[in-house]
Amino acid sequence: MSTQFDLFTPTEEHRFLRDTLRRFVQDHVEPQAIEHDRLEKFNLALYRRLADEVGILGVTVPEEMGGGGMDATAAVICHEELSTSDPGFCLAYLAHAILYVNNVAVNASESQRDRFLPRALSGEWIGGMGMSEPGAGTDAVGAMSTTATPEGDDFLLNGSKMWITNGCINDTELGDVFLIYAKAPEGVSTFVVEKGMEGFALGQRIKGKTGMRASPTAELVFTNCRVPRANLIGEVGDSVTHMMRNLELERLTLAAMGLGIARRSLEVMNAYARERIAFGQPINRFGQIQTHIAQSYAEYMAARSYVYNVARNLNLNQPGNRMDTDGVKLICATTAKNVADRAMQVLGGYGYVSEYHVERLWRDAKLLEIGGGTLEAHQKNIARDLSRLEHLPS
Ligand SMILES: Cc1cc2nc3c(=O)[nH]c(=O)nc-3n(C[C@H](O)[C@H](O)[C@H](O)COP(=O)(O)OP(=O)(O)OC[C@H]3O[C@@H](n4cnc5c(N)ncnc54)[C@H](O)[C@@H]3O)c2cc1C
Repeated sequence: MSTQFDLFTPTEEHRFLRDTLRRFVQDHVEPQAIEHDRLEKFNLALYRRLADEVGILGVTVPEEMGGGGMDATAAVICHEELSTSDPGFCLAYLAHAILYVNNVAVNASESQRDRFLPRALSGEWIGGMGMSEPGAGTDAVGAMSTTATPEGDDFLLNGSKMWITNGCINDTELGDVFLIYAKAPEGVSTFVVEKGMEGFALGQRIKGKTGMRASPTAELVFTNCRVPRANLIGEVGDSVTHMMRNLELERLTLAAMGLGIARRSLEVMNAYARERIAFGQPINRFGQIQTHIAQSYAEYMAARSYVYNVARNLNLNQPGNRMDTDGVKLICATTAKNVADRAMQVLGGYGYVSEYHVERLWRDAKLLEIGGGTLEAHQKNIARDLSRLEHLPS
């Protein structure tokens, strides 16, 4: 067997992507991260640079459709690297590149892809996905109350979607384009809803979030919103399959964000513990501090290995990885939060202020235990899937 195999950066292309992103993050993402968190402001110009200078808005989209033609491992690399510096900005990237762009690329017809992808790949448009509602989160499908009523060649959408990342780009302006799930008489269906459509409005911009403050979050409101049949993705009532297919990649990339948070937190605490002197010696000589550092490293490496192993087996075009995409999100969310927490502890008072980043990473990490599926949802799904197996996968 080759000794050269690198689970985390398996090919030259992956190496190039990671190196390019590290430079981009250091030069452009890092200098703005603290300020955009403080102001709860989305950096639209920086998002557009991801298209122009890194070319990753369609990282998983086939090249013939204008994308990067890469795999789930590449998507993981993008989210891990961006989240070492600014998870809030990365969440906006995820909502666009994974929840909107990847979903359209995999599930839309050719003519829909021609209409809805190019401006999203160039960064002219910012997109998102609306599944959650004020009264429907974990039970998204069962409790969904947004309706799609056929009328002639159109559908009329009524209801609202809550917590939508990129739902707005600032306090007053909507994002550009959304995949919206709504209940038609035949069942849950998927529609592309564009800014400017009659009956489509920004409800509230959600402010005062604990973390992920550089990502814009909004409520979207549909009042007899007229959506042409040409904007229906797939058939009426067949959303659940492509919803699930996309959610697997969402969970995997959210897990990758947790890796970025954990890695940065570990680097900060390790460097600090080497330099900080107490009782005449560097604090990394104290056993309790060593526990924080070593425990964090081992948990991070275990989580990282799990994520990249799931990524390398994930087929972007087919569902079938539910249990392990739930698994990586379950592990990485809490690992990220715990490692950021330990970093704060190791830094003492300095960990409690923005300069060293870890308090922001700690606040951002908490979202991973809720958004894209709560910890309890992952536990419920894994236990259900396991209960159907005689033996664990070998
Ligand atoms: C910053 C942010 C960004 C988001 N972005 C998006 C987005 O872009 N698009 C989108 O569609 N959604 C988005 N969401 C919504 C997110 O996915 C939901 O918040 C999440 O799925 C949980 O739903 P809920 O908040 O309604 O909580 P609920 O589902 O009401 O859950 C409340 C509590 O009950 C528990 N619970 C519920 N059911 C069960 C059960 N069967 N067994 C055990 N416990 C249970 C939950 O785990 C949780 O602890 C975002 C949320 C946030 C905070």
